[in-house]
Amino acid sequence: MIEKAQLETCLPTNIKSLPNTSKAISESFEKYLTYHLGRTQGCHSFYFYEALSFTLRDRVVANWYKTWEAYRQPNVRRAYYLSLEFLMGRALGNHLLNLDATESSREAMEKFCLQLEDVESIEPDAGLGNGGLGRLAACFMDSCATLQLPVLGYGIRYEYGMFKQAIVDGRQEERPDHWLRDGNPWELERPEYTQTVKFGGHTEFYRDEHNNLHARWVETNDVLAIPFDVPISGYKNKTVNTLRLWKSSATDEFDLEEFNAGSYTDAVAAKNNAENITMVLYPNDSSENGKELRLKQQYFLASASLQDVFRQWETIHGNNYENFVAQNVFQMNDTHPTISVAEMMRILMDKKCLNWDDAWSITTKTMAYTNHTLLPEALEKWPVHLFESLLPRLLEIIYEINARFMRVVQQKWPGNTERHARMSIIEEGPYKQVRMANLAIVGSFSVNGVAALHSQLLCEGLFHDFYELWPDKFTNKTNGVTPRRWIAHANPEMTELISSHIGEDWITDLSHISEIKKLSAAKQKTFAKAFKQVKQSNKQRLADLVEQLCGVKFNTDSLFDIQVKRIHEYKRQLLNLLHVIHLYIQIKQGNTENWSNRCVLIGGKAAPGYILAKDIIKLTNNIAEVINSDPDVGDKLKLVFFPNYGVTAMEVIAPAADLSEQISTAGKEASGTGNMKFMMNGALTIGTYDGANIEIINEVGEENFFLFGLKANEVQDLQGNYDPMHYINQDQDLKAVMELLQSAHFNANEPGIFDSIIQSLYNRNDPWVTFADFRSYVDAQNEVAKTWQDQEKWGRMSVMNTACSGFFSTDRTMQDYNRDIWKLDALEIK
Ligand SMILES: *Cc1c(COP(=O)(O)O)cnc(C)c1O
Repeated sequence: MIEKAQLETCLPTNIKSLPNTSKAISESFEKYLTYHLGRTQGCHSFYFYEALSFTLRDRVVANWYKTWEAYRQPNVRRAYYLSLEFLMGRALGNHLLNLDATESSREAMEKFCLQLEDVESIEPDAGLGNGGLGRLAACFMDSCATLQLPVLGYGIRYEYGMFKQAIVDGRQEERPDHWLRDGNPWELERPEYTQTVKFGGHTEFYRDEHNNLHARWVETNDVLAIPFDVPISGYKNKTVNTLRLWKSSATDEFDLEEFNAGSYTDAVAAKNNAENITMVLYPNDSSENGKELRLKQQYFLASASLQDVFRQWETIHGNNYENFVAQNVFQMNDTHPTISVAEMMRILMDKKCLNWDDAWSITTKTMAYTNHTLLPEALEKWPVHLFESLLPRLLEIIYEINARFMRVVQQKWPGNTERHARMSIIEEGPYKQVRMANLAIVGSFSVNGVAALHSQLLCEGLFHDFYELWPDKFTNKTNGVTPRRWIAHANPEMTELISSHIGEDWITDLSHISEIKKLSAAKQKTFAKAFKQVKQSNKQRLADLVEQLCGVKFNTDSLFDIQVKRIHEYKRQLLNLLHVIHLYIQIKQGNTENWSNRCVLIGGKAAPGYILAKDIIKLTNNIAEVINSDPDVGDKLKLVFFPNYGVTAMEVIAPAADLSEQISTAGKEASGTGNMKFMMNGALTIGTYDGANIEIINEVGEENFFLFGLKANEVQDLQGNYDPMHYINQDQDLKAVMELLQSAHFNANEPGIFDSIIQSLYNRNDPWVTFADFRSYVDAQNEVAKTWQDQEKWGRMSVMNTACSGFFSTDRTMQDYNRDIWKLDALEIK
């Protein structure tokens, strides 16, 4: 047996950085391909991607090690971003950009007759998220590394990410996304940091030598949590942060009784149960389905991550928790990881033997919570009986947190039983439930929304009781997106153009992008012309992809009108479709004077159990079929449903958009981030006064935005006396659109398939009040079409959108979090 210390004595303490020259890269690539992977030319193309990724990974490892070293120093304050989702997309191109190794790698690949872009395109997306919330976590990780903030991401290494969407006969079919099948060169397994996570069992109480009472959680089913580290490189700095993803695995302790009874195979088969925890990402966006396995995932992440933080703490500070609060802060991405509040209490009391008050003080000074939605169906509640069987010790702690909290409420509002019932962490009813949002608020020192309107609505509505109790806890942190991925990587031609006029500072400080407004008149003119050419070239790239995927030809002189996001009623893809039908009717009636040709693209995934959302996809495809094959229509109008929308697709779509559709029912979209990606890339927005759209208008000016629709308070006032027929009766266009839809014009051979969609629109209780915004939307679209006729004006507005997008960088968002919540010092890595 070799002693650990003996092994360590020969290891280098200072890992050398490797050169990024094309010679060094091609040599390393060849070495990996030949000697490590054992492949030569003619092999499966995945190995080219793998060899180049290993080559690049080698080039982040030295700085990765240095970053860890710097963060391990005794007085470094760190933040942990806890999230069930990280929608990372591809890694290779991002690291190439950050390491400034794109051109040398391109040259290196050319030596082997390979195109760099082809090699990059082999990488599967890391689709470990549903949509906006998961992509936000990914953009945050990028910005923290670029800002050199000591932030560690904790998530789950799902074996299967977000499903792949195939369109068969116009309908969505879900295909499993086994993204890890061929291996993932960007992860580093760290079995040495494995943690044990408990489930089931029951609690016992005992007294220690000082006669203090303690709890013990016993007879549990244990699961191992194995960390896989993913490097997050900063932009042209030496920081390499870490995203630590947990995989579940069975312990090797087989049930001996079963074994002796001859059920050896049954005992081994029990492994499956443990390994199922991290098998698959739940594909529900904005709705919870209350499955037991999902609660297991949440606790698994919380417990493994917190134990890992304590392990690291103790290697430096031993059992002294005096400075723990000063040096640690946890940001919870929505309520998904909120069980962390109770888990922190359990660890501090049951494992570290702190008393309740000390443990509660540490917990509530280190936990912070971000809310992402106002939709009631998305608010997580877990049946108490599930907790009882799965996490009995955690339930006890939650009950005690609630009992103490209700005493605070009672003191502030004596006898106000209605308020007590609303604020309680436990919801009474036919069966009791744990309200995760209430637990998150009670257990955190900071609660934030993700756009100004959303945060305001949280304080006025959903969390009003808590806001009255603790007004200072609540703040706003408007979302952003990373300009590295969403401009520099996705739109290299625009990047080149901007940098050639104002230098490169804007890439790490997006406020500088406004300098393109200050160019001399002559330069503005050449800039605008080149800006338009870049847009044309990006439109061609998308048109080629659309033709390949949908078999429809997009004319790049047409207006590219785009709505990509999860399919959901509140996002109102249906309103978009009603307008498309309206345009089609206009064409058929010959009302095409001063017509602006349009290519409408709709894309996004529907949750597999969300029938109406899936019907919307089918409707899109059926309308597209009719329109695209009608010779009367021609180039005047095209419609496609873009399949399998994801991060990589968006990297092609956003740079090619002329018009960005952000048309949610006001008060329902917490922020939106797709809106920001489009704006940065020079699209104009047609949108409601909702989420971050409002802040986009503040930045770019109403004259450069197509605003329409009811305001959030007007939507609110309409609930209860919404009369869909009222809008039909006073609007001939809407009437004609609905008549055509109801006439089965788009489903001639499929009778009745759109009935539930039609019914939802006519429903007096339609929460999305689609008809109420139809007129205003069509008017705004007519304004869009009119503006498109004046290409020079459109071009100026387009440049203005890019120039005014500085606020929407996640660098700014992270600085806001850091200033108000995390209070970390940036750490330069030398
Ligand atoms: C940005 C992004 C989203 C969020 O889009 P919204 O329009 O804000 O809903 C969802 N999915 C992917 C793949 C994204 O890149």
